[in-house]
Amino acid sequence: MNKNKIIAIDGPAGSGKSSVAKMVAHRLAILHLDSGAFYRAVTLTFLRNKIARPFNGPKVEDLLRCTEVELRQIGNTLQVYLNSEDVSTEIRLKEVTACVSEVSESALVRKIVTAKLRELAKSESVVMEGRDIGTVVFPKAEVKIFLTATPGERAKRRYLEMAKAGIDADLNEITYAIKKRDKIDSSREIAPLRQADDAFFLDSTGMTMDMVVDSIIREYNKSLNKSD
Ligand code: C5P
Repeated sequence: MNKNKIIAIDGPAGSGKSSVAKMVAHRLAILHLDSGAFYRAVTLTFLRNKIARPFNGPKVEDLLRCTEVELRQIGNTLQVYLNSEDVSTEIRLKEVTACVSEVSESALVRKIVTAKLRELAKSESVVMEGRDIGTVVFPKAEVKIFLTATPGERAKRRYLEMAKAGIDADLNEITYAIKKRDKIDSSREIAPLRQADDAFFLDSTGMTMDMVVDSIIREYNKSLNKSD
């Protein structure tokens, strides 16, 4: 690879972005970055410090200035560190999930996370997943994928994921939470979730993970031929 490549995978909650991004990164032997983990870690800091809406102003700025979020690839898993503390499990808790979309509406939070994401992808090729990667963070990404599935399928996948991890889950509750998050994420003023005009639309309903990954790798290979 002679130039750093960005593969941007955007899509709604539970569309399978994380698993797919991980597999694509593995196949191409490049870095995987989960941008949602950054928003979740910031949300956890806000919860711990009892920061309420609106998520801006000097107090929030001060807190963000001393908040260091780091992703570390350990074996097959991506671990998330908040000021050197492993918060990989905590950021997935219901309490964090319930607030993350509201925190992500903040212009201040987005500015800081976006700068950090751009910095991390400066010197190497990455697969980055999120909501605004192909539209805002890397509008010139070589490959842009918009990955989705029906709300029912997404909720079911999330439910099975949680059950597998031994977490108590309720399918109706998950469906409601997913729909609520989708609504906030796609209707916010700054960097809303939407498909970039030049993104490849992939509806993974009824597809296996391998089929989805193969489609993305095909798009990636096409982009290599284009740049030849
Ligand atoms: O991907 P995940 O579901 O973990 O993301 C959690 C939340 O972080 C999303 O619901 C969204 O509110 C926010 N997010 C965002 N922009 C991104 C990635 C995530 O606003 N690029």
